[in-house]
Amino acid sequence: LSPWSQATVVVAGLGTSGFAAADGLIELGAKVIVLDDSLSSENAEKAKLLEFLDADVRLGPGSTAQLPADADLVVTSPGWRPSAPLLAQAALRGIPIWGEVELAWRMSLPDRQVPWLAVTGTNGKTTTVGMLESMLTAAGLKTSAVGNVGRPIVEAVLDDVNYDVLAVELSSFQLHWTNSLALHSAAVLNVAPDHLEWYADRAGWPDGVTDSMTAYTADKARIFERVQHACVYNVADPVTEHLVEEAEVQEGARAIGFTLGIPAVSMLGVVDEVLVDRAFISQRWDSAIEIAKVSDVQPYAPHNVANALAAAALARSFGVPPQAVAEGLKRLRLGDHRIQTVAERNGVRYVDDSKATNPHAAAASLAAFDSVVWIAGGQAKGTTFDELVTQVADKLRAVVVFGIDRAVIADAVARHAPQVPLMVLDNSDHGAMKQAVEWAASRANPGDVVLLAPGCASRDMYTDYAERGAAFAEAVAGLSG
Ligand code: ADP
Repeated sequence: LSPWSQATVVVAGLGTSGFAAADGLIELGAKVIVLDDSLSSENAEKAKLLEFLDADVRLGPGSTAQLPADADLVVTSPGWRPSAPLLAQAALRGIPIWGEVELAWRMSLPDRQVPWLAVTGTNGKTTTVGMLESMLTAAGLKTSAVGNVGRPIVEAVLDDVNYDVLAVELSSFQLHWTNSLALHSAAVLNVAPDHLEWYADRAGWPDGVTDSMTAYTADKARIFERVQHACVYNVADPVTEHLVEEAEVQEGARAIGFTLGIPAVSMLGVVDEVLVDRAFISQRWDSAIEIAKVSDVQPYAPHNVANALAAAALARSFGVPPQAVAEGLKRLRLGDHRIQTVAERNGVRYVDDSKATNPHAAAASLAAFDSVVWIAGGQAKGTTFDELVTQVADKLRAVVVFGIDRAVIADAVARHAPQVPLMVLDNSDHGAMKQAVEWAASRANPGDVVLLAPGCASRDMYTDYAERGAAFAEAVAGLSG
């Protein structure tokens, strides 16, 4: 008899992971109650399926106000704040709250626990996990990219494929609701301000946490707890190294750094346009082995080389040979809207990096080019742009901003790059992108890049970053001349 057959589990939120959690729990014999305030047609559709499997699904306003009396466990959607009434009640009653990630970890039966190689960080997670999946596959291993990339982990854990290893993307929200992960190896790519509004709501945070950046960082840190083999950090980001130092890992686990410079022992890095590994050579610690060429990383950008090194560190910790690292990078085609060149006109390149949804990502994006007309704006999520503008001021040819928090960026440009032509578009309807692109094109000279790297979330104007990127491409296609 499965231990789950005794349990009543409340699934809070019927998103992608909530649905997968409910479905998996039913399969294991638990009594499942699903709560969601939204009556969207998508939810109604999912509810029908789950009710058919005997779940108790309660949708509509007020459904999540009260925690059912018989709950033994709450599985929450990652986006829920700890102060949400239902979660606050659970905490008060001492009922455990897990996310779908924790659930997936605990669901894996001891005799078929698949090792997880996991990635977190403010930026580069999806790219790195894609690279990792490709390297593992090139090595002949059965794997799947899961977690924040879009496929729920529960689904992979319970499906019929016997995976050798999982490539897992974890967001800080997902990590917040974990407490027992003991991953094979894990990487933190970088830690920079993002999602501070979510974290500004401090009810329910551990004692001593006094600001949202600390709370955000503390959640990222959870990925290293109890790691078995390798904790991978970014040499250029001291916060990530600090998190490794603070983590309680298992005996024998090692810290592995990655750097765009020449690597020291126990690091992966770059020497003469070649990616080299000085960490996973068991015999000769003073040597290095070539694992790939910089030209294998497509599209080229310094931050993608960093992502490739992080992915390689995780793959190598699992025994993937150097040839498979290179092969995996060569085979990979990255998703759209990540420094994607959408057109080349009159010697000007138009690049869509709509996925740059915070200042740190936009900074990486801008770093990849020499002379840029920058298109930015959207929801700043409580972040600031002063540091970013200061860093990139000398490569900005012109800047155009739109969206709800346009003033945050415009003010930073006026303060730190007053010489740079600046256009502030006051309308935030869909015409704004067209205007922005036309103005940018009029400012660009041959050799320049017109770069959409908003540094902001898109929800004020678009359904998501993909729609925003598509609008950019469309506006570029519509340019005359
Ligand atoms: P995530 O899954 O963490 O959101 P993605 O791989 O989708 O990250 O990349 C999102 C954006 O972040 C990219 O379009 C790029 O602008 C930026 N980016 C990617 N990798 C890095 C990195 N290692 N450091 C800084 N910025 C990065």
